[in-house]
Amino acid sequence: MPLLDVQNLKCYFPVKSGVWGRTTGHVRAVDDVSFFIERGETLGLVGESGSGKTTIGRAILRAIQPTAGQITFDTGAAKIDLMQLKGTELRRFRRHMQMIFQDPFSSLNPRLTVRDIIAEPLVANNLVRGRKQVDALVHRTAQRCKLNLEHLRRFPHAFSGGQRQRIGIARALVSNPEFIVCDESVSALDVSIQAEILNLLMDLQRELRLTYLFIAHDLSVVAHISTRVAVMYVGQLVELAPTKRIFFAPQHPYTAALLSAIPEIKPEYALKPVPLRGEIPNPINPPAGCRFHTRCPYMEARCQKEQPAWREIAPDHFVACHFAESLSLKGIAPTAVAAAPAGESHV
Ligand code: SF4
Repeated sequence: MPLLDVQNLKCYFPVKSGVWGRTTGHVRAVDDVSFFIERGETLGLVGESGSGKTTIGRAILRAIQPTAGQITFDTGAAKIDLMQLKGTELRRFRRHMQMIFQDPFSSLNPRLTVRDIIAEPLVANNLVRGRKQVDALVHRTAQRCKLNLEHLRRFPHAFSGGQRQRIGIARALVSNPEFIVCDESVSALDVSIQAEILNLLMDLQRELRLTYLFIAHDLSVVAHISTRVAVMYVGQLVELAPTKRIFFAPQHPYTAALLSAIPEIKPEYALKPVPLRGEIPNPINPPAGCRFHTRCPYMEARCQKEQPAWREIAPDHFVACHFAESLSLKGIAPTAVAAAPAGESHV
């Protein structure tokens, strides 16, 4: 059974204008998205800025209230309908789901010591009573994240980006969650530090049987850590498949365009760039039919009128394109992504 099942998720935000603040439209940040995440896997979620990736992560954690849809979390003992949780119930349940943020500099409170930052989820949610128990958990988690215990008395400004991200990871882990949303968690780090953090996340996943939703725009990073990859475009999923399959045999023109734009591909494997014309459509007023038709090199008349169905074209491979089977799109060879960090990889 999946740990997390998301069905027909919608997150619309009102656009207000005029002196009276009348609602004149809605930003459809996430528009009818369905997927599941198996226990212990990493689902990579990629797409351009503004495609709705972070909104999905925040909606699952109920940091924002979704407009519609179903989010079911299987704790092993019970299936919890996250959309129904409110107030104290929701606060208590948050110990099962945590987030690692993008910016290790602004996501830590500069006025708290590292010990207090890591202890925050335990104290805020009343999960543990007594300083001794809190300290024991903080110490154990800090060691797991390869933080020096002497550093617990210092403040965040004394640390480098990589160390701060380890503090952020420790804060996410201290309440013993099963599910973590990694929101561009390595994007702000140097490449060598990215490798360290990715390998730490993978070690922790094996050790603690964690499940990740890994949000990123860098496909070489996603290739390294993800079991499956989902591709988003203007609030909707356009393709979802196991990592190897999505890299070697993409079936959606947008996925092929993203792959051809990876800067770190070795020259001998470089793909012919897939030209994308024009701008990303405005999510307030997305185009009719296929949302990608305004930029798609394979667009036909049908694409302008009819929205492609989200369908399974091979085991575990979902795509939303009328002509997915007939397009011969190029993928990337196994050793193509030169900048992938050292260590075990899914590609
Ligand atoms: Fe391109 Fe048409 Fe497929 Fe959309 S449905 S991706 S416009 S070919």
